[in-house]
Amino acid sequence: MLGPHLRETVGGGANTIEPPVPTVHSIADYQRAYADGQRLRGLRSACGFVTATWGLVCPRCGAADLAEVELSGRGRVVALSVQHVPSDEFVNEAPYAYVVVELDEGGRISGWIAGVADEAAVPIGTRVRWSPSYKPGVQFERDPDPAPGGSPP
Ligand SMILES: [Zn+2]
Repeated sequence: MLGPHLRETVGGGANTIEPPVPTVHSIADYQRAYADGQRLRGLRSACGFVTATWGLVCPRCGAADLAEVELSGRGRVVALSVQHVPSDEFVNEAPYAYVVVELDEGGRISGWIAGVADEAAVPIGTRVRWSPSYKPGVQFERDPDPAPGGSPP
């Protein structure tokens, strides 16, 4: 099947080449990616900036050239807050750590780590990996196999 930027011609029609249509990503794309638990997707700009946050333009250079990239889901904790009073979705998970993770590919993503009652249990710099599950949000767990050279500062 041809993409929308390619037009099938039959019998020597006009020989026109149309420019490719930029892929427009929707919030629904991200929800599906999280929901199927198979992939963590991000966007990369030609300037090199990677973001795990949905958007139409690069937040660094403003270019509308974002291309989809696969993220490993590995990174390190750069911020956290222990939640003892959860929202309804997390009522069975408290206490847990709400975390901001800087991914190895670049970009930051918010998520949570189960079973954390004390901030000292997850020091800033802790290596974590995405843990796909049926639970809400983007769940992380401590990475038992930290990336080579990925030791925290
Ligand atoms: Zn950019």
